[in-house]
Amino acid sequence: MAVIVCSRCGQEKEVLGATAFYTGEVREKLLANACRDCWQEWLKVQLMLVNEYRLDLTDPRTDEILDQQVLAFFNLGEPDTPDLPGSIPPPHSE
Ligand SMILES: [Zn+2]
Repeated sequence: MAVIVCSRCGQEKEVLGATAFYTGEVREKLLANACRDCWQEWLKVQLMLVNEYRLDLTDPRTDEILDQQVLAFFNLGEPDTPDLPGSIPPPHSE
């Protein structure tokens, strides 16, 4: 079983394998840098984000948001993205 050094926890862990459902570049990065343990953590965070921001999973913008969030979670995001089309708005205040 292949191992990678996880970009989040910094430990040598088993690769994520086929559990990643992101696509394209994001998927490649996750497969090369994310461990299973941190991935499980991310799934919880993702669920929280979806609930918190009422993300519509059928909306392509949601994919962009989650792509950015997952990359940030695993410290893989590109810092030079000045105009974030998918940046998450602050929680609605009462
Ligand atoms: Zn990890």
